[in-house]
Amino acid sequence: MNVEDFGYFAFLVVIALIAIPIRRSRKKKKKQRSRNRYYSTYNPQVAHQTYQQQVQYTMTPRSTFDMENLLEDLKLTDAPVIQRAINGFQVETSEDHRYSLFSEIKIIEQQNSFLKVYCTLRKIIPSSLEIRRRSSIVVQAQNEIKIPQLDNFFSIVSEHQDMWFAILHNHELIHRFENLKDHLEFLYISEDHMVAIVDKDYAVRPMLDLTLVLHENLRDLAGDVSEYHVEQLKCYNCDDPFDPLEEVCDKCGAQRPRCMICYLDLKPSDKQEVVKHPCCQIYSHKHHILSWLKKNNKCPNCHTDLSHWSKKLLLQ
Ligand SMILES: [Zn+2]
Ligand SMILES: [Zn+2]
Ligand SMILES: [Zn+2]
Repeated sequence: MNVEDFGYFAFLVVIALIAIPIRRSRKKKKKQRSRNRYYSTYNPQVAHQTYQQQVQYTMTPRSTFDMENLLEDLKLTDAPVIQRAINGFQVETSEDHRYSLFSEIKIIEQQNSFLKVYCTLRKIIPSSLEIRRRSSIVVQAQNEIKIPQLDNFFSIVSEHQDMWFAILHNHELIHRFENLKDHLEFLYISEDHMVAIVDKDYAVRPMLDLTLVLHENLRDLAGDVSEYHVEQLKCYNCDDPFDPLEEVCDKCGAQRPRCMICYLDLKPSDKQEVVKHPCCQIYSHKHHILSWLKKNNKCPNCHTDLSHWSKKLLLQ
């Protein structure tokens, strides 16, 4: 081999040493990409999908409830605002709808294959009622209301025992409760909302109807107590309604609107007295954060120095 041939051979070896590893790593990357694509079809759908897509999503074989049927059964398909909720839907009802007692109805499928129904009441007479399936009770409650026909199935509790005893004694109501005895786990009616847990989608409508009748009777009996409008707690970021136990907005992921200083919920009508911290995107009543900053210049949440901001706030 002469020097020229040797040079050419060495050149070929160098090219091969560079090209082979590059080709291998390219192949590896390509393989990874296709694997990623494969997995991405299983990613959960993004939050801002339309309601129609969400209904299809909830009707994949894994879901035990037929949400679309449920909407039709409740005659809610024409409601002006039907939105997605994680594993379910939420509907704003109009004043002339059958369920106009509720300004909003939210139905969510829970992991243990129960349905949670949450409704914000439009107006209510101040009172509360809690009904639990007897088999799921560990400790006997004190204010129990004794309705002999229902005693084997439900534990019924309220602070307004006499009033609710009179109402629940109504035969029509007893009959409705008996029909629900195998499907109703829990029903709670408070001053401003109602929550129920049922195990079958076809139990939702009788349960909502039962609540309507309960409310009618309550109004007849406590007629001298004036009703008042309920203001619903809504996400400060996207206006999605919050239920009483929700800590994070199920639509946009924002925190429940709460004053950082007094920890009270912040209703939409509080917005004028509320300020957003520049440091960590949380809220406080303006006068509460101002009195906090008088003693301490730092954000109570993230400890950023806020002395400049407090001067600005005072001028507003
Ligand atoms: Zn939100
Ligand atoms: Zn406050
Ligand atoms: Zn902060």
